[in-house]
Amino acid sequence: MRNSDVVIIGGGIIGCSTAWQLAKKGKSVIILERNDVLSGAAGATDGVVGYHTKKPGQQMELAIQSIRMFDTLEEELGEPIEYGKCAGGMQPVEDKMQWDILSGIVEEQCRSGVDIRMISAEEARRIEPQLSENIYGALYSPTGGKINPLKLTLAYFHAAKRLGAEFIGRSEVTGFVIEDGVCKGVRTRDEEYRAGAVVNCCGAWAGKVAALAGLSLPIRPRKGQLAVTEPVGPFMKATIQCARYNVIKFRPETITDENILRYGSSLSIEQQEDGAMIIGGTREFADYEEENTFAAIDTMIKRAARFFPLLENVSVIRFFSGFRPYTPDGMPLLGPVSRLPGFYMAAGHEGDGIALSPVTGKLMAEYIADGKPTYNIDAFSPDRFLSEPSA
Ligand SMILES: Cc1cc2nc3c(=O)[nH]c(=O)nc-3n(C[C@H](O)[C@H](O)[C@H](O)COP(=O)(O)OP(=O)(O)OC[C@H]3O[C@@H](n4cnc5c(N)ncnc54)[C@H](O)[C@@H]3O)c2cc1C
Repeated sequence: MRNSDVVIIGGGIIGCSTAWQLAKKGKSVIILERNDVLSGAAGATDGVVGYHTKKPGQQMELAIQSIRMFDTLEEELGEPIEYGKCAGGMQPVEDKMQWDILSGIVEEQCRSGVDIRMISAEEARRIEPQLSENIYGALYSPTGGKINPLKLTLAYFHAAKRLGAEFIGRSEVTGFVIEDGVCKGVRTRDEEYRAGAVVNCCGAWAGKVAALAGLSLPIRPRKGQLAVTEPVGPFMKATIQCARYNVIKFRPETITDENILRYGSSLSIEQQEDGAMIIGGTREFADYEEENTFAAIDTMIKRAARFFPLLENVSVIRFFSGFRPYTPDGMPLLGPVSRLPGFYMAAGHEGDGIALSPVTGKLMAEYIADGKPTYNIDAFSPDRFLSEPSA
């Protein structure tokens, strides 16, 4: 049997960020990961750190707290994370209907004081000259940025380890130690780990892991497929999604095409520091099916060429996929579960977990170490999905 102040289940970006923040507060931490760091969504993702893809209201407010933290993160973590602060985020719009929908969402988002605007097609092409002439206009968020998610996850991981956190890979949590209604630890096949607090940071698998503790939480995998091109010269600065990305995310009821809905097909595209373009944009419910599918990749590549015609001549060199941790209300589950003292959730960030990783780790560490976070996150409580057990 092993003992520590905190056991974190899941060594993805949320688990590593939480471990680092807890270690900074002097807590002894063990991270149990069934595979290795980066084997989940954090290793199969883009790195958009922007405001314009965030749900207006509480999620936007959380994003503002989190994105502010990126300004000093590289220095604090002590290794490069490739934060491109001035990149901006853009969503080219195809027609008046998309323009009207996005304008409405932008109006709501701007109530939080963020700078997101609708701009003309000419203005959009001045910012990103490779954009097709065949667009109606664009959403533009000049203060959004991008990050290298692999480097960021590893930076949290290394910083946590330097402060004494212990990482145990190839250790799948298979059960919980629950005594008198209190969570006292977890079990793997080989060992029992006891702790004052157990944090479920299992991303798209967090619902399955919570079920091992008798909790039914509606976190499901939402698959995203990605294609990577050969490196090209400087091509774009902003992170780009087509307008349909936000339309599907916030107003899915306005989409009537079954195929678009099935794949959640839109376009997301950004250029990495090495010159390669990462092209994605599917949001599929396909259980835990990892395979890349021709239909999805074909749609994504065609949409990339529709908005950036020069990409027709660029070769795609590899594909992969990842699972976003989807929740029905689009908000993560953060904080303690009242029904099971000692058990905490930090999961369900869907397509925003990279951007929300700094603040998630900080607030979770405050909850666990200080009893209360400095910023009120009651709206994200896992309890919202749990009805009281019947007497
Ligand atoms: C295609 C795609 C594009 C995305 N683009 C962006 C973006 O641009 N910006 C952004 O902010 N976010 C983006 N995201 C979302 C982001 O990647 C996720 O929200 C984030 O990675 C979730 O992190 P996590 O640590 O919660 O989960 P994960 O990184 O999935 O980590 C969970 C870990 O738990 C482990 N685990 C599971 N079960 C157990 C168990 N029983 N015992 C021990 N360990 C276990 C897994 O092996 C895994 O390593 C994207 C995601 C995808 C798929």
